[in-house]
Amino acid sequence: MFSKILIANRGEIALRIQRACREMGIKTVAVHSTADADAMHVRLADEAVCIGPPSSRDSYLNVAAILSAATITGAEAIHPGYGFLSENAEFAETVEEHGLAFIGPTAQHIRMMGDKITAKTTMRELGVPLVPGSDGALPDLQSAREVAERVGYPVLIKAAAGGGGRGMKVAKTADEIEEAWTVARTEARAAFGNDEVYLEKYLNRPRHIELQILGDAHGNVVHFGERDCSLQRRHQKLLEEAGSPALTDAEREEIGRTSTEALARMGYRNAGTLEFLYQDGQFCFIEMNTRLQVEHPVTEMVCSVDLVREQIRIAAGEKLGYTQKDIKMSGHAIECRINAENPETFAPSPGTVNVFHAPGGLGVRMDSALYAGYRIPPYYDSMIAKLIVHAPTRQEAIARMQRALDECVVDGVQTVIPLHRKILADPSFQKGDYTIHWLENFVAEQT
Ligand code: ADP
Repeated sequence: MFSKILIANRGEIALRIQRACREMGIKTVAVHSTADADAMHVRLADEAVCIGPPSSRDSYLNVAAILSAATITGAEAIHPGYGFLSENAEFAETVEEHGLAFIGPTAQHIRMMGDKITAKTTMRELGVPLVPGSDGALPDLQSAREVAERVGYPVLIKAAAGGGGRGMKVAKTADEIEEAWTVARTEARAAFGNDEVYLEKYLNRPRHIELQILGDAHGNVVHFGERDCSLQRRHQKLLEEAGSPALTDAEREEIGRTSTEALARMGYRNAGTLEFLYQDGQFCFIEMNTRLQVEHPVTEMVCSVDLVREQIRIAAGEKLGYTQKDIKMSGHAIECRINAENPETFAPSPGTVNVFHAPGGLGVRMDSALYAGYRIPPYYDSMIAKLIVHAPTRQEAIARMQRALDECVVDGVQTVIPLHRKILADPSFQKGDYTIHWLENFVAEQT
């Protein structure tokens, strides 16, 4: 086992990883920008190294500075968290070339899944069901028209290199296809430097359901059930649940079997998430994330697993601590992402947190790097905390979340807590009756 790990991230996830390391008796090295010198992940680490100025490009994405920090502190492995360098295949490769372990999948698998066209082709060959659409990249507008006619409108033009909902355009009818084609390609070129696009049938009322996978270096792959992440605004998740209110045990078992068999054939190692759209009882694969996800705690709560600990064990070459039979989902978990944003306009609200009180009590978990007096810097993501609850039933989990949100005090900045309260009180949400479009409509009705 490693004796020292460098955590190439900040905020709540850096702290989350530190906590797992501490329980395993592993020393931690924090890295930070000058803007984060007073951050909680720096204060609680065994060692900390400043890796550059505030801009992420010069600090949390600065590969040379991060590798130097690992070398001078004698770290043996690097955990990338989520975001930043977590899905950068060159980074994973460079880390290993320096004789360090990358706590994640192989560079080859990161690269393969980072290109959504290759990801879909690979999954199709492995027997995973896909959204109907083009076979790979579209060479020209004419072929986009032909595929759209074949699968039927509405359709979605998506960037091969896409992420965060960028480079994605809907064409409702044949009249809109040319514009969708042009806009998606222009956006993709600007955002990712790659204007390759593909086409999918636009599903009108799907849920976003994703499966948590772990594989070890010995060919074993298991899944830890699903998360329902349908509540999204601008393709950004806001509230997640495990399990999904829509899935039966038989459906879970079947998609679980298909997915784990596919990843075992790939030889996939470490944590990964297969994302599906689910409509009319059908699963359609859309993409795979080759990292730990923001919403991993809901899975941890229902499956009683420490996913970060497992990631570290796998990277050290150990065998999975679970067979599929050992994994049972028990009760229900909900996560609310608490962003420092105006709850109506979603404008970021950085600034000083004067008072902070974390909720507690039975079945309540708060993953956050906040403290009273902390100044939320304006340079990074606005998510400042994740509030997670676990209870025997979904109904009790909702009541517990409402109670926990009432206890939570973050004074000095605006947060989306008022919006979470409204969502949790809504009858459709309470019935579990929602699709990926629900939250956008709900937000529009509030204003
Ligand atoms: P990104 O990598 O940019 O997040 P995804 O392919 O994961 O892109 O899609 C993000 C979100 O966009 C999905 O969660 C879903 O809400 C919506 N979406 C993607 N593909 C489709 C589709 N074929 N039909 C309807 N909605 C879709």
